[in-house]
Amino acid sequence: MARSHPTFTGMPATIFETMSQLALEHGAINLGQGFPDVDGAEDVRRVAAEALIAGPNQYPSMRGVAELRQAVAENNARFYGLDVDWRSEVLVTSGATEALADCLLAVVEPGDEVVLFEPLYDCYAPMVRRLGGVPRFVRLEPPLWRLDRAALDAAFSPRTKAVILNDPMNPAGKLFTDDERALIAAAVVAHDAIAICDEVYEHIVFDGARHRPLMAFPNMRERTARIGSAGKTLGLTGWKVGYITAAPDLMDPILKAHQFNTFTTAPALQIAVAAGLRKDEATYRTLAGALAAKRDRLAAGLAGLGATVAHSAGTIFLTADFGRLAQGSDAEICRRMTMEARVAAIPVSAFYETAPPRSVLRFCFSKRDAVLDEAVLRLDRWLNGAAVAGRAAAG
Ligand code: PMP
Ligand code: GLN
Repeated sequence: MARSHPTFTGMPATIFETMSQLALEHGAINLGQGFPDVDGAEDVRRVAAEALIAGPNQYPSMRGVAELRQAVAENNARFYGLDVDWRSEVLVTSGATEALADCLLAVVEPGDEVVLFEPLYDCYAPMVRRLGGVPRFVRLEPPLWRLDRAALDAAFSPRTKAVILNDPMNPAGKLFTDDERALIAAAVVAHDAIAICDEVYEHIVFDGARHRPLMAFPNMRERTARIGSAGKTLGLTGWKVGYITAAPDLMDPILKAHQFNTFTTAPALQIAVAAGLRKDEATYRTLAGALAAKRDRLAAGLAGLGATVAHSAGTIFLTADFGRLAQGSDAEICRRMTMEARVAAIPVSAFYETAPPRSVLRFCFSKRDAVLDEAVLRLDRWLNGAAVAGRAAAG
């Protein structure tokens, strides 16, 4: 066997890939991996198509095309009142995933501690470990996902180099409160650490709430790298266009990591994303409103089946406890549900390293209404013992 780095030796494919493949194999409705089942806005895709034909299709600046960097800076001002210099403080990356890797490569040295909040997105801990860093976990528990101040304080130490904050939070559907954000910001400042803020769901917040980035808190502007993604904001997950906002001194090492990681990102997609980000506020509100209605639709359906559904205040996910409905661990329930009910979800234990919850599943509701309804119908038949019509017909 090839000699591999211990972080990756024996590591399975991500839960998202695993469940999507299983869903495909069994013809399941895929409410697992987070992506919409309709493509992003046609006018944005048209800008990309035209830019692809008009060109240029050669390497743009490694920082990204000017239009997109300007659009990101404008959005920082428009939504959060942040004054951002597009020339020195914005970097375009190949998705938020690259952005996260660049930020961690930029700051983490062996032995450095990085504070992570559970439930946590799949790449955080492995990337920290691959760099010789040491994850320090702060647990948030379903269904309320409250931040415990003592747990936060206990996770910080003189060796803390950085914290990764995912807000709005996948899979919890949690928006951190301003009090929680202030506590985190104060701890970061007190320990002279860096905040890497994964805010890919910044515009998908419901019920009139508004996102408030950690970067906007006192003394955080210079020590925060704020990450966004067109995949989530514009519903174009396959494009893998992300962006980082950071003060020049912090951006400098991030840029150095980026130049040896991907160097740059497809220019036609960048130009189209700039057009998408420049849409008026009503467009953003309409998107969030439509997703909130889908959240409610799926939540009502799952609650009607007897699942205990947690409130989702943002993101494209809700979580539901199936402990009263099905036997076994969440991973087992998800596998059986995919194969037998032909509805795929993600086990929330995949987002924990310490004592995962046992029977909580994550569902992506960014799907057509008819698809959500059909998923609930299939689950109803499955839970009530009747054969699923399609499966029976397929023999
Ligand atoms: N962070 C979180 C919390 C996510 O849910 C995702 C998936 N969109 C990413 C990062 C990765 O984003 P991208 O597809 O832009 O790399
Ligand atoms: N962010 C997506 C999710 O949480 C997955 C993206 C991926 O598969 N890498 O479902």
